[in-house]
Amino acid sequence: MSALVQLERHVTRLRGCADCPQMIGPVVTGNPVLSPVMLIGQAPGVKEGPMGRPFAWTAGKTLFGWFAGLGMPEDEFRNRVYMAAVCRCFPGKAAAGGDRVPAPDEVARCNRHLVAEAKILRPKLVIPVGKLAIAQLVTADKLTEVVGIPRRATLGGVELDMIALPHPSGASTWHRTEPGKTLLVRALAMIAEHPAWRSIMPSDHVPTAVAP
Ligand code: SF4
Repeated sequence: MSALVQLERHVTRLRGCADCPQMIGPVVTGNPVLSPVMLIGQAPGVKEGPMGRPFAWTAGKTLFGWFAGLGMPEDEFRNRVYMAAVCRCFPGKAAAGGDRVPAPDEVARCNRHLVAEAKILRPKLVIPVGKLAIAQLVTADKLTEVVGIPRRATLGGVELDMIALPHPSGASTWHRTEPGKTLLVRALAMIAEHPAWRSIMPSDHVPTAVAP
């Protein structure tokens, strides 16, 4: 069976998953794109389910703005990068406000989907977005230990390059203040130079700036 058929079957199965009683469906995941580049988000927010795609709202605007600066507009990104997440369902709101952080058992349950994707895609470059996604690949106490620093990592037994990004949430100031601002620019420049990223770049798009 070809990798594309495996991936399409995987995504179909994934969309039917309802294993976490506290999670709110529908399952949100990206297109079944056979890509050497995988992006891992945290979990969808309240808007992503109804809109049917990851990073569909305000955080997505910031995230896709970063990639547009590398010459990859949002629609091209969605068709050229496999978009995964630590959890694929909306966790609901936290009592203290904001979205609930997925519980460890939910992260563990959803991890099998990530592992299956890594085994099918065998990505050369993984871009985890935010602390929870980074934690699926490496151990780090602070974002300053990983953002803007090239790392090798393993996912589902597959060795790959990891270039971590901060979460683009408007609630976070990390990427808008130093040293986060500089480290983000460095991480985006590293992505732009990575051979796997270069191999999926649309030929008719030219980077405008390596800056958030
Ligand atoms: S969070 Fe993941 S494991 Fe849990 S129901 Fe959604 S898709 Fe399934």
